Order: sequence, then C-alpha cells, then structure tokens
Amino acid sequence: ESRVADQWTKTTCGYCSVGCGMLVGTRDGKAVAVRGNPDHPVNLGKLCPKGLSEHQMIDTPGRARVPLLRRGGKGSPLEPISWDEALDVMVARITGLQRTYGSDTLGVIGTGQLLTEEFFTLGKLVQLGFRSRNYDGNTTLCMSSAVSGYKLSFGSDGPPGSYADMEHADVVLLVGSNIADNHPILCNRLRKRPGQVLIVADPRVTKTAMMADIHLPVKPRSDIALLNGIAHILLRDGMIDEAFLESHTEGLDELRRFVAEFTPETVARTTGLTVETIENIAFLYGTASSAFIGWTMGVNHSTQGSVTVAAINNLALLTGKIGQLGSAPFSITGQCNAMGTRESGFTSGMPGYRKFDSAKDRAELAVLWNIDEEELPKSRGLAYPDIIEAALDKRVRALWFIATNPVVSFPNVKLLTQALSTAEFVVVQDGFYPTPTMDYADLVLPAAIWGEKEGTYTNSERRVSKVNAFVAPPGEARSDFDIFLSIAERLGVRERLFSGWISSHDAWLEWQRVSAGRLCDYSAFTWAQLEEQGGAQWGGTSLYRDGVFPYDGGRAKLHCVPCLPFSEQPDKEFDFILNTGRTVEHWHTRTKTGAVPQLDRMVPNAWLEMNPIDADRLSLRQHDRIALVSRRARVEGIELRITGIVAPGQVFMPFHFAEQNSNLVTLGAFDPISREPNFKQCAVRVERS
Ligand code: SF4
Repeated sequence: ESRVADQWTKTTCGYCSVGCGMLVGTRDGKAVAVRGNPDHPVNLGKLCPKGLSEHQMIDTPGRARVPLLRRGGKGSPLEPISWDEALDVMVARITGLQRTYGSDTLGVIGTGQLLTEEFFTLGKLVQLGFRSRNYDGNTTLCMSSAVSGYKLSFGSDGPPGSYADMEHADVVLLVGSNIADNHPILCNRLRKRPGQVLIVADPRVTKTAMMADIHLPVKPRSDIALLNGIAHILLRDGMIDEAFLESHTEGLDELRRFVAEFTPETVARTTGLTVETIENIAFLYGTASSAFIGWTMGVNHSTQGSVTVAAINNLALLTGKIGQLGSAPFSITGQCNAMGTRESGFTSGMPGYRKFDSAKDRAELAVLWNIDEEELPKSRGLAYPDIIEAALDKRVRALWFIATNPVVSFPNVKLLTQALSTAEFVVVQDGFYPTPTMDYADLVLPAAIWGEKEGTYTNSERRVSKVNAFVAPPGEARSDFDIFLSIAERLGVRERLFSGWISSHDAWLEWQRVSAGRLCDYSAFTWAQLEEQGGAQWGGTSLYRDGVFPYDGGRAKLHCVPCLPFSEQPDKEFDFILNTGRTVEHWHTRTKTGAVPQLDRMVPNAWLEMNPIDADRLSLRQHDRIALVSRRARVEGIELRITGIVAPGQVFMPFHFAEQNSNLVTLGAFDPISREPNFKQCAVRVERS
C-alpha cells in the first residue's frame, strides 16, 4: 500500500498517550498507509499494531455521516436532519431546560480524544456560554486519581518526569501497569541501560510482568501496603535523603510514625510476598542512584487511587528521587490527549492548572478573557459519576456526550442506562454510528475524527505534538471545533467568547496566552516547530529540578495512607475477584479498532482468564462458554481461557467489548477525591453459560 501513496503527512497517533510520531500516506483523498516517523523522538519509527493500521479505521461504513434526531421523541427512530435544524433543536432544548431547572441542569462529558484546542473551546462554551459547571472528561475514568495524587503531594498536577527517565533509571518499578499491552512502544525504553532492574507489581502475570527481573504478584489492592512497607524499610535503614526532606518536604515525622506498623512481616501477610522480597525491593529502590516508578490503571482504578499515588510519591520524596534524570514518580496516562485536556479544561481545575478557589487565579483568568470574575465558578461542578447520579434523580436533565461511549466504558452500566433513559434530552456527538450509547440519544451529531482535523495532543511526558488533517470528514461530519463554534453562534456568545475565531489555530493562540507563565506553559511553541521537531515538552524533561513545589511555601507533602480493604470482598455466593483491563489489539470500546479487519480478526471477542485450580474445581474446560455474574448483572457467552496468568480466586476480562460487556458487572464505587471508578476489584461468580 505504501507504494501507492502519493503524499505523506506528518502527524501523531490518535490512540494512546505514548504519542508516537507517524507519517500517513494518502492517494486520491484516501488514507492508504501508515508508517512510523523515524525522526520522531518518542518512537524512532516504531509503531504498535493499532498505530500501524490506524488509517484503516477512517474510511469505514460505521462512520457517522449526518445529524440524526428522534423527531417523535423517546422511542421513535433516529432520522436524518440538517445541521441547522440539529443545532437549533439542541440549543433550544438545552436552554429551555436550563430556564426551568437552572443552568446546571446541563451535564457535559468530553474526552481525551479531543484536540487541546477543542477541549479548551468546549470549556469556555460550557462554563461561560451555557453557564453550567457540570462538565467533565471521560478522563475521570482513567487518570483523575493521578491528577489528585500529584496535587496531594506536590500542590499541582503535572507528571514530573519523562520517558527518558525510564531509560536512564537504575531501577524501574511499574505498579499496576501493563505497558506491553497498553503502551507497547514504551517497552523500547526498558533495558537499554546495562544492569537496569525492572520490577513489576501486578496481581496478574501480564506480558509486562513476563519482561520483569522481579515480578511481585501482589494480592489485589495490597499495593498501598507494599508502598508503605518500602517506606518503612527506607526509614528504618536510613536509605533516605535527609537534606532533601529537610529543605523540600513536610510531614516526615507523621509518616515515620504511621509506617512504623508496616513491618516487612505485616506487609508480607497483606501482599502475599515474602519478607525477603519486600526487603530486597526496598533495598534496590533505596540504594539505586536513580529510580523510576511508573503506574497506570492498576493504581488509578481504585477507591483509594488518589492516595495510592500519594504513597508512590512518598517514596520518591523520601529518597529525593525526583527532578533528576532517571528518577520520577510517573503516571502513564491513557488517551492520546489526556494530558492536554487536564491542562486546558474546566475539570478538576480551571485552564492552566488554575484553582477554582484561588482569588488570584480567578482574577487572572477573568482579565485574560475580559469577563466578569463572577462568571467563573468558585468550586468544581459535578464530576462524571456525579453527573450520572444527578441525571438519575433529575438534578441534571440534559446530557451531552462527546467522543465517548459510556454504555461500554462506564461501570455498573445498568445504572448508567437508567440515567440516560431518565434524562430528558441526550446528545451524542461522535465520529462513529451507531454506538451503543446512541441507543439512548435524542440527537446524534456526526463528528470528524483523527486524520480529519488539525491541532495538538499532549502525551504522558508533557510532549505537545502536532496533529494534522490528511483527509476530509465523511458525509456532512464536522470537526468538534466547528460544532462548538456553531453552537456558540446559536447561543449568541460567539462574538463575546470566540471573537474572530475561524480555525482551531485561533484557539491555540488563545490557549498559549492563557497558559503563559503557568506550570503548563505552552507559550513557547509554534505549531510549525512542534511538527518539525516531533513535539516539545512543556516544563522540559523534569519538573521540580530545584526542589520547589507548587504548594504555598514550596514544600511537597508526605502523606499517611491507610491500606483499606476494597469494598466488595468475595464471599460464598460471589467467590472470585474480577480484574478488568485491555489488550494491545484494541482501543477502548472498539468503535475504531473493531472496524479494522486485522485487529478485529485477531481479537474478535472478550474472554475470561481463570487459574487451572479454579477451573478444575468448577469442572470447566478450556474455551468453554461461561457466564460472569455479579450482584449487578449476568454476562453470557464469554470464552474461558484457563491460564496461570491469573492467581487462584481471581479472574480477568478485557473491557473493550459491547457484546460481552464487563462493565455490566463492575461496581459503581468511586474514589472520594478524584471520583475515578473502582474498575479493578469486584466480587463475581462464574457459571457454565
Ligand atoms: Fe499509537 Fe500508542 Fe501504539 Fe504508539 S504505542 S502507535 S501512540 S497506540
């Protein structure tokens, strides 16, 4: 195929947060090939299976092409309508409900799939145009606990390190992070340094655990005990950086007292590891001249996600292993633009990592936008799960979902679909049609996707990269940016909020001004430079090189993190702990990768992993069709895979599949700080289907 392309466009992968650079080949207005950009600093020409086939998901029959409306109300079919009518109906219905029930009756869920320029525009539109505070991203389902954990420890969001740290570290500790499946190109950063020790803490023997020098098969949710146990040994044996602690942190005495009870013997009982292993891990981490701790959803997807991140940060602070090459506590994010959206939107803070409750931040933003400060919210609106709960009891009556498919991705889906059915007006804006969420939509807006629009993404290491258009959107689909401006026009706020804006570059220029001088400062880059250089990192390679943290007073905080049992423990009726996750071939709810024949053929269905001991006990055989049952739902027809990858008493299922939806059985429990769902542990039983 690459031979028939007559034009190649530089861009950035639109799937995961690694942020690989690529070249897309086009001919006659169609994308016909993809290859890795050999000059891109992140991936040096390499791509994973999703990236290599990314062009194939664009021109597929399942694209949304025209706006659709249920003219006859709920229960009537979705029928094609014009854009003018679609946007008129949308604005009239939402503002009508707002006049009766207040502006916060609108709940909006955006996504880490949007360009930064689009998310920034959406934030202004929702907060200052629709005047609703109830706006969040689907990023709350994947990395809001990392955000909260960074804020707890350092006073601000912002991953302190870079991928280069993985390469240069003497010790790499990955906690609940299966990068071989979920961030595959990052695996190229491991083992480049002779003598580097790779430690992977994960209840499953994942592909990443198989790469490790030391795999720590911790019991589910015992990661906090392990981290506190390492802190105990570091303090006991003096493997700490006294000068750094003295000058740059607070809370040492409290932490010393708190972790005293996390003796290696106690931690061994909680985690299932041996005392020798725990001592060894602490020694390796404590004596390494540089050490990197990376984590993903195994940490974040927990009712204790935020504080688990703080417990990770404790180790970096105790040893001063932060702000220098090879050392960082590093959240590996999920979506291609998870970072850009958490920096530029109104989710857990205001654009530029500004705080809702900071008079200075509010005044600054009001001046930048030439608005009355009172227009800015003084506190966060509802987070994603709270918007859904509010829809159930009608505090929220209009819902607008943008490039996200919660009927597959949200936990305890039955409750979610009740909320969608209860809402009076549901808009789903997406590049694909139909999606399971559109069953509940009153209005569908067809959106352009990756490859059809221009702007930037920011990856896990804060690298801002250029994303380019190389084909036109199908049918009447429009970019999310254009849709937002058209809505602003109808609301009568376009001139006031987006004066003179024509393209997403206008949003970029304003975002640069809004972020200037902030920790996440985008003002130094131009789009042309970003494209030429393969992106640039705001904050450089490491944050906090001077040991000064964004808390008032400049000190980082050590936190005492209790190790609590997860809320739904297995019992006689539901005797397994379910763990959910991803596989390398698919992206989220498969709207994209399910449309790519090679990927779909490789992994067409969900499966459930079970240990041979349990399969014997239940007289189940390899590839039997089973039912997975929890207190919330029963999912039939899942292929059983009997494997030692999972420990006895635990089962694992990928979450990508609408047909066998793991999120029908998962638990609607959320982190009290970040509001991230506890996807990782719930009690289930397994029966023959
Ligand atoms: Fe795309 Fe992530 Fe694969 Fe890189 S590792 S090609 S960014 S999906």
